[in-house]
Amino acid sequence: MYLNTCHLQTTRFISKLYRCYFNSTGAGCLYELLSALPVQLQAHVDSADDRSFLHTMFGERSLHSLVKVLEELQGKVLSVEVRELLKLLSKPHIKSLLSVHDTVAQKSYEPELPPLPDDIDDDEDSVKIIRLVKNKEPLGATIKRDERTGAIFIARIMRGGAADRSGLIHVGDELKEVNGIPVDDKRPEDIIRILAQSQGAITFKVVPGILDEGPAKEPKVYLRALFDYNPEEDTAIPCKEAGLAFRRGDVLQVVSQDDATWWQAKHEGGADHRAGLIPSKHFQERRLAHRRPLTNTLPQKITRKPSSFRRSFRLSKRNKKTNKSMYECKKSEQYDTADLPTYEEVAHYRKGHGAKHRLVVLVGPTGVGLNELKRKLLISDPQHFSVTIPHTSRGKRSQESDGVEYHFISKHLFETDIHNTKFIEHGEYKGNYYGTSVDSVRSVLAKNKVCLLDVQPHTLKNLRTAEFKPFVVFVKPPSIERLRETRKNAKIISGKDDKGSAKPFTEEDFLEMINAAQLMENQYGHLFEKVIVNDDLTTAFSELKTALRKVETETHWVPISWTHS
Ligand code: 5GP
Repeated sequence: MYLNTCHLQTTRFISKLYRCYFNSTGAGCLYELLSALPVQLQAHVDSADDRSFLHTMFGERSLHSLVKVLEELQGKVLSVEVRELLKLLSKPHIKSLLSVHDTVAQKSYEPELPPLPDDIDDDEDSVKIIRLVKNKEPLGATIKRDERTGAIFIARIMRGGAADRSGLIHVGDELKEVNGIPVDDKRPEDIIRILAQSQGAITFKVVPGILDEGPAKEPKVYLRALFDYNPEEDTAIPCKEAGLAFRRGDVLQVVSQDDATWWQAKHEGGADHRAGLIPSKHFQERRLAHRRPLTNTLPQKITRKPSSFRRSFRLSKRNKKTNKSMYECKKSEQYDTADLPTYEEVAHYRKGHGAKHRLVVLVGPTGVGLNELKRKLLISDPQHFSVTIPHTSRGKRSQESDGVEYHFISKHLFETDIHNTKFIEHGEYKGNYYGTSVDSVRSVLAKNKVCLLDVQPHTLKNLRTAEFKPFVVFVKPPSIERLRETRKNAKIISGKDDKGSAKPFTEEDFLEMINAAQLMENQYGHLFEKVIVNDDLTTAFSELKTALRKVETETHWVPISWTHS
């Protein structure tokens, strides 16, 4: 309003200037007008702010220059352009336009609130009458009923919502009336219905609660969601409309953890500034722990069908035949209760110059094409990508050299190393041990190369350290129809030392691959940072390369513990 008034006065002043000039009553008229104006307006201006505004405006150099220009023009013969301008400005529609502008500037567009009720009981001195103008946006507050007294309280205020922005309603306020309707005999659902149906001004009568809110600084906690969440399907959420839906892998900014069960969060980088309710970590873990018996079938399936998870860089025909006994998995594949996938705190990370590369871990079912992808990467840039050299307890063959095909060590030393958890994974084949050591990964990274590793997904948990910062890529098969088309002439096993032994894919291989991929995704999907469908190999390869380049060059989210070291 203050600005509008000034604007109006400015417009009027400018038109006065024009009139003064165009009527041409003589030199000096404009300056007189300019200097007289602040005094003339003094009577209409009450506040010091307005006075100083006018003073600044009339003292402005640009205004004085304008006056000077006009005065300069006065004595001269009018040019064609000036005459043209004069003609235009005196046209009735330009005058009407200026007049419309003045009328519009005079109006107030703030919502009009009805007058306060005059039947306020003088004894109720702690009662607060709040008027909010509500549009379609929800109020952004939840209520609860005190079971003992039946009183209705504001349970939470959603950050950034209408109620929060108003700054008038607070957690703990007791709600007495909504639009003149007493609420103490109503159920929370009925009150919510009254609120939902109200449009425009809503009047609340509340008894303010005791404020114990700390400084309202927005906490900067970022979490990666490790599960899909749809509040519509959540029977426990106090208010479905207040819930925030998200997908596994989404990064959420948690803005309030005040409530032990329901946190408030928003999508990181999202346009919506309003927070929504999400189940707290503790609450979600408890719920998952209760649902666990339903998902327990998974480890049993793995045990029954070990081949679906088994794969090695050097699979051979012999392995194919004896696949199940190729090597035994020594690590427990049982579901770990401490690792219920809920949320993981994340922070921004960008690889610094000279910092080691993140370990690239490829996961996928047998036959999906991990080896092809790995080989293509190695060939594409051998200076940049590398693989580990495995250890074995079998004897060195004549054409082999220690540290090239394998690191050859004794059975006894291998067992000691297993005991000292020196291996990321290990297995037994024909009475000999084979395995990938932690140090073999370190030695690739120390050469400032990107280390490509393919592992069974149960080892991921042990690899997820600040040292390795694994970037886990899940390579997934396409639909069975596409598998039939794309793998028509392909062979299931393409180990580097066993080219002739590969066999064409069977229908059973395809089904097993799809099934294994599904199981992996269900159980370990929350650990996959990138999922690539290997439909067409060339496309999958370029997708993988792009993803790897991004990880090396761009800022991305990683678990916060990886950024401390
Ligand atoms: P070979 O003795 O013919 O070189 O390899 C026999 C088999 O040992 C390979 O086909 C593969 O199944 C297994 N193998 C080779 N390297 C590793 C490894 O790093 N880890 C495990 N678990 N097995 C391996």
